[in-house]
Amino acid sequence: MSSQVIPVEEFDYVVFGGTGDLAERKLIPALYHRHAAGQIVDGSRIIGAARSDMATEAYRDFARKALEEHVRRDLLDAADVDSFLARLAYCAVDAKSDKGWAELKALLGDEDRVRAYYLAVGPSIFGDIADRLDQNGLIRERSRLVIEKPIGKDLASARALNAVVGKHFREDQIFRIDHYLGKETVQNLMVLRFANALYQPVWNAAHIDHVQITVAETIGVEGRGDYYDKSGAIRDMVQNHLLQLLCLVAMEPPASIEANAVRDEKLKVLRSLKPVDQDTVGQVTVRGQYKAGAAHGEAVPGYLDEIEDKGSDTETFVAIKAEIETWRWAGVPFYLRTGKRLPSRVSEIVVQFKPVPHNVFGKAGAEMHPNRLILRLQPDEGVRQSIMIKDPGPGGLRMRDVALDMTFAENFEADAPDAYERLLLDVIRGNQTLFMRRDEVEAAWEWIDPLIDGWASTAQKTAKYTAGSWGPTASIALIERDGRTWHEAEG
Ligand code: NAP
Repeated sequence: MSSQVIPVEEFDYVVFGGTGDLAERKLIPALYHRHAAGQIVDGSRIIGAARSDMATEAYRDFARKALEEHVRRDLLDAADVDSFLARLAYCAVDAKSDKGWAELKALLGDEDRVRAYYLAVGPSIFGDIADRLDQNGLIRERSRLVIEKPIGKDLASARALNAVVGKHFREDQIFRIDHYLGKETVQNLMVLRFANALYQPVWNAAHIDHVQITVAETIGVEGRGDYYDKSGAIRDMVQNHLLQLLCLVAMEPPASIEANAVRDEKLKVLRSLKPVDQDTVGQVTVRGQYKAGAAHGEAVPGYLDEIEDKGSDTETFVAIKAEIETWRWAGVPFYLRTGKRLPSRVSEIVVQFKPVPHNVFGKAGAEMHPNRLILRLQPDEGVRQSIMIKDPGPGGLRMRDVALDMTFAENFEADAPDAYERLLLDVIRGNQTLFMRRDEVEAAWEWIDPLIDGWASTAQKTAKYTAGSWGPTASIALIERDGRTWHEAEG
């Protein structure tokens, strides 16, 4: 099965931080894939911008290397690579001085076309770039701004950052990327929920026992120690990715798939989260930090061996029992967990239904398991719905749990686009459905801030866990106290 390719209108993508890690590993490869798929029309340009002095030819060499390193060999076509590189230009620009702005303005020219400014730079210079874009008359009706996490480290800093970019760009021009939202499975969650009569009637507390959301990484801090140590798992993963996934599972059906209709519903979920504060944080959260252990059979160092501050108590693991105070979800816990140096790299949502109300099968009924819907975001994206069937064949009645498998890796093969590919072109289409609105980001921080404050005021320390394990035992106790267990997420 191959996906349908609808070309987008002509554009200029200006990537500030075009020589950085994000541009190299994600943005350039993603734009190449869309180019190779025929989705980018002639005349569209991609302009790298950073302080380093570099000619366009040298930037093309940089991009060629990025493609060789980060695109699968069989997807690299020599002619496609050449025509892609021909779209690239480079402009040396300093966010903090006048250097390069006149040149950038000249390069962009006067034509009225979609312009996307992607800020693949640290948030401390978002304001400088937005100011200078405006001063140089580079913000037009059809200009858009793309920003990445982290959007603040708490509510106050998120508000400040939003205000800085909001001074120059309207909200409908600002695209806050959370790449989890670009994943096939995430969109499929909306289709499953709202395009099937099957799920909607049972999508509530009467039929769902609980929900688990796991985002597990096998890697450690990998040279990002400086950033990570100030952030920790709660800010790096929960505030954005996990809460966004929770919103998509829990939101009411929107009136339409239009961006603000969807985002209004997600916002209501965030505002309905039961507050976690100093009185409850000890019962409903677990913080962990990995110590030395093993990953894939090899010894790996502990967190404190990888960072500067040897006394750091930053969490590399967090588990939370979250609750949503609405009629639909009353009494249905959402167990969230995320961590580094866990046994497998897996992101998934497990919707656990309640057992059938009455066993009509006598002893054979002991084999019945409640239904489970598993939405896998990575590694192999897909959806599995477990159902009970009769074990085929003669003999007594036996039952078995089978999975209706909708694994996209098989169905779509290499055609399934990476999350960034979809999102980068959604920016050009002006479609904000999969991007976070300002009030969503701030509402997420409004819930997270008292939780972090609760950790500080109760001095809740991290529990150490061995690298390569599923986190501190307290995380197992968190869910088992409620008579439930974590789904065994295999990578
Ligand atoms: P990076 O590798 O340090 O790259 C930073 C880029 O910004 C470089 O191209 C740098 O080039 C440019 N830059 C720095 N100061 C500048 C200035 N004053 N004017 C113009 N350009 C300037 O960082 P990164 O890892 O790509 O991350 C960029 C942003 O994306 C960060 O906010 C990060 O948190 C976010 N992010 C990154 C990832 C990822 O996978 N890397 C994932 C999610 C979010 P020059 O030094 O030549 O100016």
